[in-house]
Amino acid sequence: MTDTENAANAADELGAHVSSAGGCHTVHARAAEIGAVVLQLFTKTPNQWKEPEIAEAQAAEFASTRAHHGVHTIISHDSYLINLASPDPTLFARSYDSFARELTRCRALGVDFLVTHPGNATDDDKDRGIVQNAEAIARALDEVPGDTMVLVETTAGSGRVLGASFEELARLIDLIPEHVRARVGVCMDTCHVYAAGYDLREDYEGVMARFGDIVGFDRLRAFHLNDSQNALGTRKDRHAWIGDGHLGPEPFRRLMRDERFRGVPKVLETPKGDEHAASDRENLRRLRAFRLEA
Ligand SMILES: [Zn+2]
Ligand SMILES: [Zn+2]
Repeated sequence: MTDTENAANAADELGAHVSSAGGCHTVHARAAEIGAVVLQLFTKTPNQWKEPEIAEAQAAEFASTRAHHGVHTIISHDSYLINLASPDPTLFARSYDSFARELTRCRALGVDFLVTHPGNATDDDKDRGIVQNAEAIARALDEVPGDTMVLVETTAGSGRVLGASFEELARLIDLIPEHVRARVGVCMDTCHVYAAGYDLREDYEGVMARFGDIVGFDRLRAFHLNDSQNALGTRKDRHAWIGDGHLGPEPFRRLMRDERFRGVPKVLETPKGDEHAASDRENLRRLRAFRLEA
């Protein structure tokens, strides 16, 4: 797709997680290839502790390729290894350091949002976990000033992972001191919410109303749009193509036509198969089609 086509058809809020193989600056061309000006990336290898730093020249290259492709919203997803709720002091210290470096890279690259999964209270003490997780996010925001917002993601809630209920997310955010709370929001993953037991398929309005009451729509700053390979309440995190999973097309149709969420960035994390760009383009086409229906 050419850049002119991008400007014409995709000045909307839809995008996808794209590979940063070859360097962070390569993501913008990959977004352009799928007709998106919104993207999500990893700023490092997400299953390793190694923490790269962004040199000035890299930041400059990232900014110029971003401008060239007209990318307007960038989300970074933090490393899978980070557990800010860990009761183990060594693992917590490592996680905190890793998270602060994630935020530092986001600041250097001008990334708008850093999405983070609430941690895992492996000692079964959820309340301690939530308090510790909130303190860690607050400390990182204090230590790394700037415009990047931290978005706490809704989780599927397997094992002792936190953040599978709207109440836990609201509590986590409420525990963050006010002077940094303006830089905290939520990313709602449709697959995770459904797997956690919120029936977006049969009760879209009810689930969204509960989110609005408990967390607040002003806090909802991004969506991960994924269908679910597993049934309601199974707590399993397996993504499917839009409309092909247990959620089916209806909740996505409603979400795409929901004026409350019109400008909120929405990124796909659907399976890409062998043809990455073609898979993302097809899922974006399905989402945009819902909005175009009469
Ligand atoms: Zn995630
Ligand atoms: Zn997921």
